[in-house]
Amino acid sequence: MEKYCFGIDVGGTTVKCGLFTVAGDVLDKWEIETSTENNGERILPDIAKAIEDKLTEKNIAKDAVVGVGIGVPGPVNENGEVPCAVNLHWGFKPIEKELKEMTGLNVKAGNDANVAALGELWKGGGAGCHNMIMVTLGTGVGGGIIVNDKVIAGAHGAGGEIGHAHVDDSITFPCNCGAYGCLEQIASATGIARIAREALAATDAPSVMRKEENVTAKTVFDAVKENDVIAIQVAERFGSCLGKALASFAVVADPEIIVIGGGVSKAGPVLLDYIIPTYKRYAFSGCKDTKFELAKLGNDAGIFGAAKLVL
Ligand SMILES: [Zn+2]
Repeated sequence: MEKYCFGIDVGGTTVKCGLFTVAGDVLDKWEIETSTENNGERILPDIAKAIEDKLTEKNIAKDAVVGVGIGVPGPVNENGEVPCAVNLHWGFKPIEKELKEMTGLNVKAGNDANVAALGELWKGGGAGCHNMIMVTLGTGVGGGIIVNDKVIAGAHGAGGEIGHAHVDDSITFPCNCGAYGCLEQIASATGIARIAREALAATDAPSVMRKEENVTAKTVFDAVKENDVIAIQVAERFGSCLGKALASFAVVADPEIIVIGGGVSKAGPVLLDYIIPTYKRYAFSGCKDTKFELAKLGNDAGIFGAAKLVL
């Protein structure tokens, strides 16, 4: 009998759902709305209903389902509970227990960034590897560290929160986490855009970026591709900061591969051209030749990784 599993990726506005074979082929993917009213009380029942409806639609029996993996934006402990998930308006929530009661299926929960890393390791940029550092460069900087196929979440779920590694003493305004000089303040899409605006304000030199009313990380890397001098300076600051930080992380986790994902990674291989030279300059000899890849699954990394949680 063919066996199946579900991968569910819960975000603040939508829940992405995937139905997979245990070999990792996607049979179907769809989205439902995340209803955060009343402390997000509808979120798990809505997911349970989506699963039940899909099983009926596809005529799949419950005993052919290995389980449901679910990634959520918050720390998840080893009992599958979150102490709180701000974006979902959840306080304490025993996700695995509740969703198991609602569906009658085996449920495994994990933090969304860690789950996305697991997805990239399974079917994306890190496929074939067992040790990986994943960096997600989006509005913030997320991360996931995988050692021997296991996500390192640590005692407080803070393992892999590499966006909040301190990398810069000169930043005098706080990060979203309350600390100062976090990697996220420089290497996120928000950070890159801020550095670009500052660089443009500091000089009258010409730049193609001046045509944009709203300078974003995309503006910067598009301009880099046109050899724009100021954009190149911004990319160098970004790459040197991230490359140095990754060299430090590599000596802790010793990855086979470092995968760069998130919206900023859509800039393509040019991004790696700015990160790798600094990485190689500062990395310990034993991990100097670590491979770099861009993430391959895009927004689907979460459903793939969630499915992998139950396999
Ligand atoms: Zn921070």
